[in-house]
Amino acid sequence: MQLREDRMIHIIGAGLAGCETAWQIANRGIKVRLYEMKPGKKSPAHELDTLAELVCSNSLKANNVESASGLLKEEMRILGSLIVEAADNTQVPAGGSLAVDRKQFSNYITDKIRTHPNIQVVHEEVKETKETKEGITVIATGPLTSDALAQKIGKLTGEQLFFYDAASPIIETDSINMDVAFKGSRYNKGDDYINCPMTEDQYNAFYERLLCAETAEIHGFEDKKVFESCMPIENIARRGKMTMAFGPLKPVGIYDPRSERRPFAVVQLRQDNAMGTMYNMVGFQTRLKFHEQKEVFRMIPGLEKVNFLRYGVMHKNTYINSPTLLNADCSMKKNKDIYFAGQIMGVEGYVESAACGLWVGISIANRVQNKTQIILSNQTMLGALLGYCTDNDIESLQPMNANYGIISPLEKRVRGKKARREEYSKRAIIKVKELKKDIERV
Ligand SMILES: Cc1cc2nc3c(=O)[nH]c(=O)nc-3n(C[C@H](O)[C@H](O)[C@H](O)COP(=O)(O)OP(=O)(O)OC[C@H]3O[C@@H](n4cnc5c(N)ncnc54)[C@H](O)[C@@H]3O)c2cc1C
Repeated sequence: MQLREDRMIHIIGAGLAGCETAWQIANRGIKVRLYEMKPGKKSPAHELDTLAELVCSNSLKANNVESASGLLKEEMRILGSLIVEAADNTQVPAGGSLAVDRKQFSNYITDKIRTHPNIQVVHEEVKETKETKEGITVIATGPLTSDALAQKIGKLTGEQLFFYDAASPIIETDSINMDVAFKGSRYNKGDDYINCPMTEDQYNAFYERLLCAETAEIHGFEDKKVFESCMPIENIARRGKMTMAFGPLKPVGIYDPRSERRPFAVVQLRQDNAMGTMYNMVGFQTRLKFHEQKEVFRMIPGLEKVNFLRYGVMHKNTYINSPTLLNADCSMKKNKDIYFAGQIMGVEGYVESAACGLWVGISIANRVQNKTQIILSNQTMLGALLGYCTDNDIESLQPMNANYGIISPLEKRVRGKKARREEYSKRAIIKVKELKKDIERV
C-alpha cells in the first residue's frame, strides 16, 4: 500500500499507546505509518511477535466504574478505544477485574491495525527521532525504548530522560492519622511536610519486619548496580540497624509539637500534587511486593490505615520529564511536530498508556484537519492524568497511574468514600459524553 509521504503521521512503537494513537488518527481518515521493531528485535520483557503486548500481568485492573482504573476505561470506551474494545472481547473471568487472554488480546489488536486501510505497519527499529521527516511524529516506544532511540531522545529533550523508575509510594492525604502525624519542616522552616514520629521500640519493630519482607523479582535486564544511586529502603535497612535512622528517617531538627521532644526517627511525607490530596513517602523507593508494602508501611505511626494510591516500584522505565518538555496535548514545547504518547511521557500502566495514546490521536487528527483543539477537563480521569503529567508546577515527574488523588475535587461535600467515588464517576462520565459530542461537532 502506498501512502502519501507529505500527509503521513509517523508513529514509533506499536504497543498499547502507539496502536491506540494510530487507530484514532486512521479512523478519522488520515494516513499513518506505524513502526515496530518486533519481531526482528525485542526488549527483554516482550515475547510475542504481535502488536500491543501485555508484558507482565494479564489484568487491566478493576472494571467497576467507581474505581479509578474502571472509570478511565469507561471514559475510553465512550471515546472509541481500540484497546478497551479488545479487552472487552478477549476477557477471561477475574472477579471485578478486566483480565484478558493476552494472546487473543494482542491478536485482536494486530488484526484491526493490519487490516485498516489507513495504517501501514513497518517492522524496523527506529534509531532517529525523525525530526527531519516531513510531518508529525509520535514517539510511543514505552518503558523499554531501544537504546539507540533512547540516546536520541535524550539529546532531543536535553537529557531530561529517566532510565530507572525509583518511585516511592503515594498515599491519600485523608487517610493519614493526624492525631499521630504532624505538620512541619526541619528546624521550624514552615509546614511543608507531614511527619510520622517513631519511638525506639516502633523503629526496631519496623526495622525487623522490613528485613524479612518479600521483594519483587529482579528482571534480567535490570542492572543491580544502578540501584546504588537510588537505593530501595529495604537495601538501606540491610546495611545496618541504624542506617535508616541516620539516613531518610533521621529526626534532626524535628520536634513533635505535642511532646516538644525529638522523636527517635521520623518518616517524612511530601505533598505530591497542588490540591494536596496526595503525599509521597520521602526516601521510600522500594521493590517490596505490593502486599508487603501495605503491611510493613502501615506499621509507621500515623499510617495505620493509610490508603495507597500508588505503590513504590523500581524497574527500568524510560520516560521524559513531561512537565517541562510537553504542552497539554503531549506535543513538545520546542517542536510541535513531535508528540510523546504512552508510558514514555510519564503515565504508568497498560490502561493509562493506551488512554494517553487515545488522546494524542484525537488531538493530532483535530490539528491536521484544522479543527478546534478541545481541552480535556480535569474532572475526567483522562484529563486529570494527562493534566498531572504536563503540570508546569511539577519539577521532577514520577510516573502516575489513574487515581482519585489527581482528579479535581467535588464541588460539594459528599460523606463516605463509596458515595464520593460514585459522584466522581457520574460527573466524569457526563463530561466525557459532552466531550465526545464536541469532538464530533467541531
Ligand atoms: C517489566 C515490566 C512489567 C510491567 N508490568 C505491568 C503490569 O503488570 N501492569 C501494568 O499495567 N503495567 C505494567 N508495566 C508497564 C507497561 O509495560 C506499560 O504501562 C505499557 O505497556 C506501556 O505501553 P506503551 O505503549 O507506552 O509501551 P509498550 O507497550 O512497551 O510499547 C512500546 C512498543 O515500542 C516498541 N519499540 C521500542 N523501541 C522501539 C524502536 N526504537 N523502534 C521501533 N519500535 C520500538 C516495542 O517493541 C513495543 O512494542 C510493566 C512494565 C515493565 C517494564
